[in-house]
Amino acid sequence: MYCINCGVRLADTEKKCPLCETVVYHPDIIRGEGEPLYPENRMPQRRPKSKAFHGVVIFLFLIPLIIGFLIDIRTNGDLTWFGFLAGALLLSYVTVALPWWFEKPNPVIFVPCDFAAAILYLLFINLHTGGDWFMPLAFPVMGALALIVTTVITLLRYLKKGRLYIFGGALMALGGLTVLIEFLLKVTFGLKMVGWSFYPLVALVLLGGALIYLAINSAAREMMGRKLFF
Ligand SMILES: [Zn+2]
Repeated sequence: MYCINCGVRLADTEKKCPLCETVVYHPDIIRGEGEPLYPENRMPQRRPKSKAFHGVVIFLFLIPLIIGFLIDIRTNGDLTWFGFLAGALLLSYVTVALPWWFEKPNPVIFVPCDFAAAILYLLFINLHTGGDWFMPLAFPVMGALALIVTTVITLLRYLKKGRLYIFGGALMALGGLTVLIEFLLKVTFGLKMVGWSFYPLVALVLLGGALIYLAINSAAREMMGRKLFF
């Protein structure tokens, strides 16, 4: 006997496919107690991440850091652009390499950390170049984006249902963010409000609204599913 869903071979005693959990039904076979063909708890084999691997990763980040430091000192007699390089390396280390230290990196923790690191890097660039765009522009925009993205991944991770609502709401929030960006550009650089953000706002709100409509209306959802073949 074979699973009708995934085709794995089944013992006559199996009530459920051990692989895909499809309920096994055969009108002629009466199930007794017996030895199943597969062990009950398949634990995926996970190789522990080695210390040597971490060492190599840190080494890969340290090499450009040291070379950049030496070149900057040799050619300019002082540290000029080295801070930008160090910040960029640190930022990529935090976003790419740091989650590897953990057995099961939780995006609900790492994504806000990544945004915090990016915001700090922007602050550094702003201070280093004598700009005045961090507080009025970069911080609120990045902060709002961090809030939206973190909310989405938190909801996706801890809610089993309602993905259409989550994505729909997120698109609408991003539409609102474009208006905020246009407004803050005016405040920061004195740019005229010509209303360009109106177009992405309308597009994103319509798209988000369509997703929420699909979430509410199951008949429309089924029809869309049939049209898109999923
Ligand atoms: Zn199966």
